[in-house]
Amino acid sequence: MPESVIPPPRIQNGAQGSTLGRQLAIQRERRPADPLLSLVVPVYNEEESIDIFLEAVTGLMERDGFRFEIVFVNDGSRDDTLIRLLDHSAADRRLRIVNLSRNFGKEAALTAGIDHARGDVIVPMDIDLQDPPELIEPFMTRWREGYDIVYGVRTQRTSDTTAKRLSASWFYRVFNTMSPVRIPENVGDFRLVDRRAVEVLRQLPERNRFMKGLFAWVGFNAVGVPYERPQRVAGSTKFNFWRLWNFALDGVVSFSTAPLRAWFYVGVVIASIAVLYALFIVTRVLIFGIDTPGYASLLIAVLLMGAIQLLSLGIIGEYLGRLFLEVKSRPIYVVEGVYADGTSQPTKP
Ligand code: UDP
Ligand code: MG
Repeated sequence: MPESVIPPPRIQNGAQGSTLGRQLAIQRERRPADPLLSLVVPVYNEEESIDIFLEAVTGLMERDGFRFEIVFVNDGSRDDTLIRLLDHSAADRRLRIVNLSRNFGKEAALTAGIDHARGDVIVPMDIDLQDPPELIEPFMTRWREGYDIVYGVRTQRTSDTTAKRLSASWFYRVFNTMSPVRIPENVGDFRLVDRRAVEVLRQLPERNRFMKGLFAWVGFNAVGVPYERPQRVAGSTKFNFWRLWNFALDGVVSFSTAPLRAWFYVGVVIASIAVLYALFIVTRVLIFGIDTPGYASLLIAVLLMGAIQLLSLGIIGEYLGRLFLEVKSRPIYVVEGVYADGTSQPTKP
């Protein structure tokens, strides 16, 4: 195995050693000779990046001789993103534009793109070239070897701020401790996914689309290809602190019930302490008689219990809120129209 390849994570698939080899061989046999690649690109207020992206990507894909389509999902941009995309699609039949009726967020936009992609393999990509298109070629090599999911692993996150790096590393630690599904560290949405994994993904009914987690949940044989994540080529990031925090919360809450269960154990510990303390007080009263002081300990106990109850209630609220959203079963996104060849196409339901 070449040095640049990170072995597949153990937890995601039971296959090891020769079992893996055999599984890969079976998949290798099934690979079409001339696969169609679908690049799925969610865009939100990205008018400056579109030209740069298209030039870099189409040039590279033609050079490597891939048959491809690019599915852009316009996620309710308020600038000239859609107009620019339409101009390009009039000249290039390989482009398709799924225009959403408003901003639904990156995860929903990705879902829309994946639903509209027709390729044998799908590669979700950011438009800012932070997901280097040069990686598609090594991704394809691994796919031809039989892997169903090939993800990019960021080796150095020098393009991110220290705060983002630190919080990301904490997020992976917390997530992977709590969730039965492990997500590989420093892996974004940039990956190549085989059609059969895509079909499983599309059957997942949840409204809360934490894509990284869903991709990991699907399973199959996955392998990582390391890369250095460059700076954004144009425009600015769409994720501020709050969006990232909510994103992390969505991830943990939709993949783990550990935060709900934790309160049971907190309750057991506090109840045990209370019983011991009660025994201590009763014994002391029996031996030394009653003394009045105790105001401080009383207040601390009351405040602590109040705080713990509010906290646990808040956590229950997190889950209840999400349950509420899931139960309503509203669609994940609304398509305003699908455009290709510079014209509108009938929309898929
Ligand atoms: N994006 C989107 N909808 C949103 C926010 C972002 O479709 O509500 C797209 C954005 O246009 C870009 C990708 O998601 O193609 C990644 O966004 P960004 O580069 O801002 O994220 P970062 O790389 O800073 O995490
Ligand atoms: Mg980016």
